[in-house]
Amino acid sequence: MHFILFGAPGAGKGSQAVRLVEKFGIPQISTGDILRKAIKEQTDLGRQVEAILARGDLAPDELILKLIEKRIRQSDAAKGFVLDGFPRTIPQAEGLNRLLEKMNISDLQIIKLEVSDDVICQRLGKRRVCESCGKDYNLASAPPPASGKCEKCGGNIVKRKDDNKKTIRKRLAV
Ligand code: ADP
Repeated sequence: MHFILFGAPGAGKGSQAVRLVEKFGIPQISTGDILRKAIKEQTDLGRQVEAILARGDLAPDELILKLIEKRIRQSDAAKGFVLDGFPRTIPQAEGLNRLLEKMNISDLQIIKLEVSDDVICQRLGKRRVCESCGKDYNLASAPPPASGKCEKCGGNIVKRKDDNKKTIRKRLAV
């Protein structure tokens, strides 16, 4: 099964992706996670996109398409994938169509999550995330353990740099 999750930042794509991953045994492919990992490791890609993410702007389409093609050709995605945060622009969607055709993938399911901007702002202000494995927490609905360490991997639980009021509004607009 091949899924795309659509929805604004904070709509719940990451949370729902986890369920699809468990049910179908396919990987979640989040362009945001891939970019954040590259920034943390200060790879060429990471250095290229660091300022873009900090501002809440979008990374260039060409770069994102290359990264996605490489990722969905990996063996763990042979049976399917859950795309989260991609495609985000029309050129990305067109690039994805070409790629799916080339790979003979025709069972695409698209799920759109609709949530109001006010609810999103509340959720993202309270979101916390494990900096090692990416597991999501929320101070209101799924609080992190008192130790401040991730219950899945023991990593540090932090607030994402772009989960601040100004950048959240910018990301919603973008
Ligand atoms: P959110 O959806 O909460 O903004 P993501 O983790 O999906 O968070 O993305 C974080 C940032 O990574 C975006 O603000 C953008 O800068 C960049 N990004 C992620 N996916 C894409 C994409 N498909 N195209 C361009 N930029 C992207």
